Amino acid sequence: MEKQLFEVPAIAMGELQFKLDKLSKKAKKAGTSDIKLIRVGRRTDKDGSQICIVAIEGEPVKYEGYTFLARLDHNVDPSGESNLVYSMPGEELTEAQRSLGANCEHCGWKRRRKDTFLMRKDDDGSFLQVGRTCLKDFFGHDPAELVRRAQYITRVIDEVRRAEHPAEAYLSNRRTVDLATFLGYTLVAVGAYGWVSGKEAFGDPDRHSSRDMACDAMFRWPRPDPAERPSSEQMETADKVIEYILTLDPKRSDFNFNITQLAKLEVIDYKATGIAAAMIFCYNRHLEQEAAKASAPKDEPANSEYVGTEKERLTLDVTILSSRVQEGQFGYYNITRMLDAAGNLFVSFGQYSEDTGAKVTVRGTVKRHQDFNGVKQTVLNRVMAA
Ligand SMILES: [Zn+2]
Repeated sequence: MEKQLFEVPAIAMGELQFKLDKLSKKAKKAGTSDIKLIRVGRRTDKDGSQICIVAIEGEPVKYEGYTFLARLDHNVDPSGESNLVYSMPGEELTEAQRSLGANCEHCGWKRRRKDTFLMRKDDDGSFLQVGRTCLKDFFGHDPAELVRRAQYITRVIDEVRRAEHPAEAYLSNRRTVDLATFLGYTLVAVGAYGWVSGKEAFGDPDRHSSRDMACDAMFRWPRPDPAERPSSEQMETADKVIEYILTLDPKRSDFNFNITQLAKLEVIDYKATGIAAAMIFCYNRHLEQEAAKASAPKDEPANSEYVGTEKERLTLDVTILSSRVQEGQFGYYNITRMLDAAGNLFVSFGQYSEDTGAKVTVRGTVKRHQDFNGVKQTVLNRVMAA
């Protein structure tokens, strides 16, 4: 069955989720099964802002052979022309059903009624409209669960509809933040000013952290110019950032643990935006490392020749092929393999280490020339950055 879809500005998703969580807690206390907001997609609006497309999901409510479909709020117009329709999750009414008059098929008495309930009879699929005040009479007892459910869905839908056209007050509630949207705004800030950590900005009135800039633009009213809002490309990058963060090993450090926990959430606490912003820093560093790896020569240099003579001190422009830690008899040391522009291979065993792919100038003393698996390599001592 077609889902009823809503379009909520991405910046309003945080506050909306906060409000729905509160309703959900109340509903659980009352014993009603949960109604959840699910994200179906995202699009860019005419003015460049991001819109989340959401649907409401929940268990159908069946009651004594009937499935509850919708509550119709007839307001003050019994003709049905101005009904407010609150469909249950997964139920889509026909055009005719949406504009049913304030009628009750139970008592047949057309009168001014605010609410009617639309139900489907499970055994023959027929529809039935019963006035809210006649439900008790119809079932022979008070269908409390049905009424609670109707109230719950009404509030949820009202909240979602309010979020579709958020007012200033709605957006200025900095309690909860939509994670992907916040990352989008952080990408805008980092793109414009580079990454600025909270530590760097602290105590310097002329500098603002990437997180503060992102929060400022995200919650600003009137809304910032399109150039200060994340583009659809930046929002796609925000999704990639979250995907990447989820691949990190949470056991490696407290920081990794916190950041991966946050990445699992769609909406985060405002206080956690500092850690969330660091996701962009981690992702950018990851991209830089990937790029360095890709530009580094992959295979063993087949045409490597010996360089220098024993004990000669050389100054070399090299690219780091690899640098790894090895445990030896006297503790730890690094094995660093380097390649010069002519394709000659150098190896250092000792203190020196550098990021893979780094292009550096080093000084080192030739220890010996060595054939290693058919490749001529020059082993260097006392290597240091020049
Ligand atoms: Zn009735």
